[in-house]
Amino acid sequence: MSEWVRRWEIEVRWRPGLPGDRLSARRVDTVAELRQLVAWARANPDITRHQHRTVRELAGDPPAACPNGHPYDGGSATRAARGWTTCPCGGHLILACRWPGCGDVSHDPPKCAELH
Ligand SMILES: [Zn+2]
Ligand SMILES: [Zn+2]
Repeated sequence: MSEWVRRWEIEVRWRPGLPGDRLSARRVDTVAELRQLVAWARANPDITRHQHRTVRELAGDPPAACPNGHPYDGGSATRAARGWTTCPCGGHLILACRWPGCGDVSHDPPKCAELH
């Protein structure tokens, strides 16, 4: 199972004339880390501009079997039909079990307030 996690990305633009990339981005897990980076960027004379935004990342692995225990990768008869559905939470992977008589359709991440 995987889940959406919220992270923060800060992007900084370095002043012209420095070696290396002019633009760099870093992702952090907590607001505290973000605040530290913003303070660092503000205090750094080589950084001409910085901005941050929230991003969503899928953490974890998609399920390997349907809720009834049929493996998704057990050969042609059980191969999952994978699809993708967009959702305000970031989207869901659709896994359809091909086991004869099962017909289960699962979503990963499985639980979502936005999913109907
Ligand atoms: Zn199944
Ligand atoms: Zn969703």
